[in-house]
Amino acid sequence: MTEQRLKVAVPAPFPEALDYLPHELPLEPGMRVQVPLGRRQVVGVVVRAPEWTEADDGLRCRPVTRRLDDEPLIPADVLWLCQWAATYYRYPLGEVLAAALPGTLRKAPPARPRAVRARPPRAVRSQAPPSAPHPPNAEQAQVLAALAEPGDFQVSLLEGVTGSGKTEIYLHRVQAALDAGKQALVLTPEIGLTPQLEARFRERFGDAVAVFHSGLTERTRADAWQAARAGRCRVLVGTRSAVFTPMPQLGLIVIDEEHDASYKQQEGFRYSARDVAIVRGQRAGLPVILGSATPSLESLHNVSRGRYRHLRLATRPGERRLPKVRLLDLRGIKLRDGLAPELAQAVATHLEQGGQALLFVNRRGYAPSLLCHDCGWLAPCPHCDARMTLHRSRGRLLCHHCGSEAQVPLRCGSCGGPELIPVGQGTERIEDGLRRLFPDVRVERIDSDRTRRAGELERLLGDIRNRDIRILVGTQMLAKGHDFDGLTLVGVVDTDQALYSADFRAIERMGQLLTQVAGRAGRGSVPGEVLVQTHQPDHPQLQCWMREGYSGLSRRLLDERREMGFPPSAHLALLRADALDAGAALRFLREVAAQISGAGIDALGPIPAPMERRANRFRAQLLLRSTDRVALQGSLGQLLPRIAAIPGSRRVRWSLDVDPIDLY
Ligand code: ADP
Ligand code: ZN
Ligand code: ZN
Repeated sequence: MTEQRLKVAVPAPFPEALDYLPHELPLEPGMRVQVPLGRRQVVGVVVRAPEWTEADDGLRCRPVTRRLDDEPLIPADVLWLCQWAATYYRYPLGEVLAAALPGTLRKAPPARPRAVRARPPRAVRSQAPPSAPHPPNAEQAQVLAALAEPGDFQVSLLEGVTGSGKTEIYLHRVQAALDAGKQALVLTPEIGLTPQLEARFRERFGDAVAVFHSGLTERTRADAWQAARAGRCRVLVGTRSAVFTPMPQLGLIVIDEEHDASYKQQEGFRYSARDVAIVRGQRAGLPVILGSATPSLESLHNVSRGRYRHLRLATRPGERRLPKVRLLDLRGIKLRDGLAPELAQAVATHLEQGGQALLFVNRRGYAPSLLCHDCGWLAPCPHCDARMTLHRSRGRLLCHHCGSEAQVPLRCGSCGGPELIPVGQGTERIEDGLRRLFPDVRVERIDSDRTRRAGELERLLGDIRNRDIRILVGTQMLAKGHDFDGLTLVGVVDTDQALYSADFRAIERMGQLLTQVAGRAGRGSVPGEVLVQTHQPDHPQLQCWMREGYSGLSRRLLDERREMGFPPSAHLALLRADALDAGAALRFLREVAAQISGAGIDALGPIPAPMERRANRFRAQLLLRSTDRVALQGSLGQLLPRIAAIPGSRRVRWSLDVDPIDLY
């Protein structure tokens, strides 16, 4: 018997697309269909059109319930990209496709939908008054000349100190793409950054711009997606998942702050939007611009191998100068509310001169632990191998790892002692201290606790810009992208955490963060000052950053990684497992390790995760490493089907992270 079968990728953990029988034709790849799956009805995407097959495999296929699109919603290039990502990240294609679609399009519409047809692109309205581009300075002109060379796929790493005019370069190149009748995709790391970037693109290109990020309603996201797909939106500015948006006339991809870890999705479909974007550019044969003041070691490595072109902006346009940076040696110094007297004095001086000050603290809450003075007990999370963080403003203890909350105890949980001391500095504590030191000026804290309410961040940013807020205390939320003209002093309250960390990327991150935070100072015409508090003023890597800046530090780190055999000199894949009973995850990963095959593949571990118990589950990890990406991919391809057969694989939860950013 022969019958017509088609392949549909469904949002469920199957490695392959499933066979169905056609119900109404035509059914083409990229169209959504409603199909039965077990007892449910789900929305899937056709990945192969119906074909006549010899149906002698004994499988009874079920028919498609309903076709949801009259023409492919997902065009061939994006379908290809999703297939590439599903293979590379070893994630089910149906789930990848679901992640690539805005929420409203993942659900079946109640009635027959109207046809979604690509409308012809509208000319970019030159509405009044789109701001004129700055005439490029000499350095920018050089970069623009290099970028204007005709050619197809080419990745350019634009390394430019903060405030050197990278965004101006993007705007010029986007304009050139629009002039050539093309669309442009601009990726940005976080919503915190988007308002300002969005504003600059809107100012320049008006209605041609649409934005796409998780802070928008589903409806708005879907509209932006459809507008890009139909060619009505010419410039899409979006976060991670925007990389999968159909753009039929795509001519340019820009990835701003390319080093930012938030391009990597940390759960479920663990893709790197930066890397997927580069693959998309390569496939479509178009230029990709990676921009950063602090490029990732991966991108610098690709430059040194001649894969990417390196373009630089070393100065700030006009009168702006890079800030002066100094380390404040904390050893033996009496701190007041976490601040050295010299830093407090510097805040006072800058305020007197009319400037604003930013104090950077990388921890939310009041204090990262609560200590019993009598016995040394530290308030623990009952569900994790971690301490509870004291949040004074909410009057609670919070676990930053599992989210559990508790009342602030009045007595020690071990000896009953009455004296509990908050230890360490969080944003709330620094804010408190500064309010006491500077009662006459407005001090505000900007972290994810403070800016939870919609619109709050924008309001605070506005009040910084109009200089109503004079002192700001912020987490890394403030480190990037924001451009505050009046900010003249940046104080880094604590760098030492990174220097002690076991994470192999900790120093790279520290260098990026310090450089980015420092870059917030002196964007106006007054020169900036940066003070970095540390107990380790002689630490070689901190010294290297002081002397040679991020580029010197990154050269040094690249050498170290080569010696250690770590990325970017090698490629990693991390298998994580967790289970309710202690030891089960580790036993499971031992079995997995025994199945690993392939030449040139190292298995490191398994070992218990650095924080073994989290949310009551015991976690372990196994690292696969190879200097050969293709060999590593091949090994994963052989390994994954074998994992399901391992006894006990159902009692553990496990996941694979290809090119992991965090090793825990
Ligand atoms: P980056 O993206 O590297 O941080 P921006 O593009 O935001 O830098 O530029 C920093 C500031 O300098 C902005 O206020 C921008 O308007 C201004 N600027 C950029 N290029 C020029 C130029 N050629 N002439 C004058 N001002 C410029
Ligand atoms: Zn005690
Ligand atoms: Zn916890």
